[in-house]
Amino acid sequence: MIELIQRKIISLIHGFGLDHFPWEVMYFSLGVTLSVLLIELFFVGWEYSSLKKIVSFDKSTRSDFICWIMDTFNISNVFGFILSFGIFYFLVGLIQKNFGLNLITHVSNPYLQVAIIFLAGDFKNYVRHYAFHKSKSLWELHQFHHSATHFNVLTRQRVHFLDPEISRFFDVMVFVLLGSPLYSYLAVRIFKEAHQLMIHSSFTSDWGWIGKYILVSPAAHRLHHSTEERHYNKNMGNTFIFWDRLFGTYHPAEHVKEIGLPDNQFNKEGYFRDLWKCLKGMVKVIRN
Ligand SMILES: [Zn+2]
Ligand SMILES: [Zn+2]
Repeated sequence: MIELIQRKIISLIHGFGLDHFPWEVMYFSLGVTLSVLLIELFFVGWEYSSLKKIVSFDKSTRSDFICWIMDTFNISNVFGFILSFGIFYFLVGLIQKNFGLNLITHVSNPYLQVAIIFLAGDFKNYVRHYAFHKSKSLWELHQFHHSATHFNVLTRQRVHFLDPEISRFFDVMVFVLLGSPLYSYLAVRIFKEAHQLMIHSSFTSDWGWIGKYILVSPAAHRLHHSTEERHYNKNMGNTFIFWDRLFGTYHPAEHVKEIGLPDNQFNKEGYFRDLWKCLKGMVKVIRN
């Protein structure tokens, strides 16, 4: 375990050094984000574009922007690791080292392999998202994502830095079963990332039958962020909407009056205080 700690600390330190900085992660994020921003601008025009919202820099967008910077420059990863004392990282490392069924090696067709890993990974994301909504303590963290009062492409990155740390437990399940992380496939990564940015953008389309039966549409995810009670805990799918249909959390896309949290306590005192509020809330729930 000590060796694991040392390795992680060294990799994090290198992460900040220019020679080992994960440039590819940064280029990937910058490239996909910029592309989606421009596509959105082309279709919705300047008036409704995320770019205009980012330039206007209101308090909700400010937090989205800071989250995006933290994520793109690998800072949230370091924060998450330090503030969780590396506990999640080590536990997941131990699971990864000691268990591994590597089931994907039994599938010989490489296209089928990608499809299985994609589906399994997305189902894992549905379960993770469901848990973050249904568990009172995890909701204290996830509500930060839901506290955005309007969408711009960067809202996708608006997550508490402990969120991805805890999510490692869900990620490792797929790894243990199949033995291959989804991230090895660049085309899949680009598709998933662009899709996530799009469903947090100014697009409001329900994508017709595709949005009804296959993919989570911008309208479906907007509804997930709605302040209306009948929309709570609906459309929790990440890429595919059929998980919601299968498990009874689907809600057809309809007009959403307002997004955010009812009685929203966020976006008033700044990003760090908001994160602190979530942490305090989580500790309080666990203690009670
Ligand atoms: Zn959610
Ligand atoms: Zn969202």
